[in-house]
Amino acid sequence: MAGKRDVSRDIAQAKRVFAELGGQILARPELAGLLARFRRQIEATNRLFGEMDVAADCAACCDREKGPCCFDGAQGWYDLRLLLINLLLGVQVPDRPELVDDCWFNSPTGCKLLAKDSICLNFFCPDIQARLNDAELLALRQQVGRELLACLDLETALLPWLRARGVSWI
Ligand code: SF4
Ligand code: SF4
Repeated sequence: MAGKRDVSRDIAQAKRVFAELGGQILARPELAGLLARFRRQIEATNRLFGEMDVAADCAACCDREKGPCCFDGAQGWYDLRLLLINLLLGVQVPDRPELVDDCWFNSPTGCKLLAKDSICLNFFCPDIQARLNDAELLALRQQVGRELLACLDLETALLPWLRARGVSWI
């Protein structure tokens, strides 16, 4: 793991905060509403990825050979904020990697997370860019943008609420 940020402390912190405050967060109508809106946008993105066969391309690629995606070290892009949001969305965030030389959150069936970093969402490899036409790529990027905006709206409400309760992630 030399040179790679060790995310295990962030995962442990997110699980502690979720155990302590998760119930309160989910009971707050404003936060629960923003979380539900974010989930709907994630589902819309995943639906579009499926309709355009991007999900199938990625599954086949990962099965065939290791592409430039989901490498060991990518887990370092995550800290308490997105990890806690994943827990709030019901994701079982793993404490350790499942696959050798891969991102800690990758699995044989793809990414285990629902709330993803913008780098994960915005990367389309040259093969996918070549297969999709401009309109399809634009539609994907627009939907990714809607998902990221919904995440930002949630963070804008959730993070000050956490800070006010002494939770820090820096
Ligand atoms: S984006 Fe491209 S390189 Fe990455 S997993 Fe999908 S098909 Fe493979
Ligand atoms: S998509 Fe998931 S598995 Fe891939 S780098 Fe991002 S978090 Fe890791």
